[in-house]
Amino acid sequence: MAIIKNPKFIILLYHKIGICPKNAKFPGLYVTEENFESQVKYLKNHGYAFLTLSELKALHFYYYHDSNANNDKYNVNVSEGDKIPNNSLLKLNLINEGGRYVAITFDDGSRSVYSNGLNIIKENGVKATVFMVSGLVGGVNDWDIKNGENKDEMLTVNDLKKMADCGMEIGAHTKTHPHLSRISPDAAYNEIFESKNALERLLDIKINFFAYPYGDYNKEVKTLAEKAGFWGACITKTGIVKKESDFFALNRVAIRHNTNLFKFKRKIFKVKLFY
Ligand SMILES: [Zn+2]
Repeated sequence: MAIIKNPKFIILLYHKIGICPKNAKFPGLYVTEENFESQVKYLKNHGYAFLTLSELKALHFYYYHDSNANNDKYNVNVSEGDKIPNNSLLKLNLINEGGRYVAITFDDGSRSVYSNGLNIIKENGVKATVFMVSGLVGGVNDWDIKNGENKDEMLTVNDLKKMADCGMEIGAHTKTHPHLSRISPDAAYNEIFESKNALERLLDIKINFFAYPYGDYNKEVKTLAEKAGFWGACITKTGIVKKESDFFALNRVAIRHNTNLFKFKRKIFKVKLFY
């Protein structure tokens, strides 16, 4: 099999799936079912393979690290027990000959991802990762309400379990959604580590990835996410994942309420070309 040398790993950032209410404070958080479905179908029809973030990391390893085993830079935070199963990748059919990969991510853990998005995800064979605010499982979006946004239900334990059963990856997004650079390092570590720990206990699965709330991070916060045992963490800055990418500052492409299919195609095209 001819495998291209320079794969494109794109991570998309979504929040809620549903119609944006007229009085929404942050309309960018909403993407309608119709838009989400047309975006997913576009990716599918254009040869993109959907990945969870753990799979993305394994593939990145496969493309860039296997042949480069002495380079520690790409071996961040993979302990002996967590060895990424490189050799099983081909068997798992993860390799896409065209080298086009997309990882869909949903920040926060809005229940709308389950109620409005899961059918689209299942019907189209999509894999995705949901970053859950661990202290608000089964609750509401407290931090957003404080910022003036409408009340929104959060995923329940059952929803999360069903999503994990459908092959979705669950990631952590702190306990309470603070700006991590604005609180003490101890408090930040507690938010990061406890969110991993709580979700692992609650769902009895490994939580490998993290997303910084508001994309707010700095060098210290990044170190704390590494220390907590994650495989990587997502930010909100635009870009794709490249050979030299820092897995604790993974760029994404934000999809918003006004991202129609034309804008979506343009975003994908531009990020591949310019980043
Ligand atoms: Zn968030």
